[in-house]
Amino acid sequence: AHDGGTRRRVLLKLSGEVFGGGKLGVDPETVQAVAEQIAQTVGTVETAIVVGGGNFFRGAELSQSGMDRSRADYMGMLGTVMNCLALQDFLEQAGVDTRVQSAISMAQVAEAYIPRRAIRHLEKDRVVIFGAGAGLPYFSTDTVAAQRALEVRADEVLMAKSGVDGVYSADPKKDPTAVKLESLTYDEALLKNIRVMDQTAMTMCKDNNLAMRVFGMEGDGNVTNALLGEPLGTRVTV
Ligand code: UDP
Repeated sequence: AHDGGTRRRVLLKLSGEVFGGGKLGVDPETVQAVAEQIAQTVGTVETAIVVGGGNFFRGAELSQSGMDRSRADYMGMLGTVMNCLALQDFLEQAGVDTRVQSAISMAQVAEAYIPRRAIRHLEKDRVVIFGAGAGLPYFSTDTVAAQRALEVRADEVLMAKSGVDGVYSADPKKDPTAVKLESLTYDEALLKNIRVMDQTAMTMCKDNNLAMRVFGMEGDGNVTNALLGEPLGTRVTV
């Protein structure tokens, strides 16, 4: 890690769709499978996780149906905390020590977000799960993934994707000549409007020289391998 430790430290972003298995709510089987893959790397890799919430609510969508945007965003943030608890449960069942840190205070279910404590947990082989996004409306969990990665000094952001296994030269669903890219730069991704993470998040990674790997969840052992640093998917760098 960048703070003098020798072990690899990563920030894994799991979007809400990973938790829902494509549906509303939490699909326990899917979460369990991810947890078991993460468990295999504990002791080798220090893992912090930012959890999305799109399987419950997205503020922007609720506001289009007439809700106040900020209140809807808070609902979105609360959804991420439910995902955190599901992931925490299956990680603990797999024998992993975990801590959930929430950006919105809710002492009964999660610690507060305290960056230095998070780092200490990582050093002690605890998986740290960050919930409630930034605690701020109008932000996304992608942006939070970049911010938390920087603050806990992760070596890399790992964007786990569902239904696609990297960044392609064109949309593989529409263009049969599309090929998977091994690497690209943030400038290219921003210029071509490639939506592997939102633009605010990409700009933050770019400005702070933080590398990212985009990989597909679906392959056998992919989450484990990505955590261990295998060159899956596409690497995005400055
Ligand atoms: N959200 C927010 N501030 C944050 C993070 C998330 O307001 O810092 C809200 C926002 O409404 C968002 C929802 O929480 O739509 C769920 O997060 P996101 O859409 O990033 O989840 P994902 O797409 O990764 O499932």
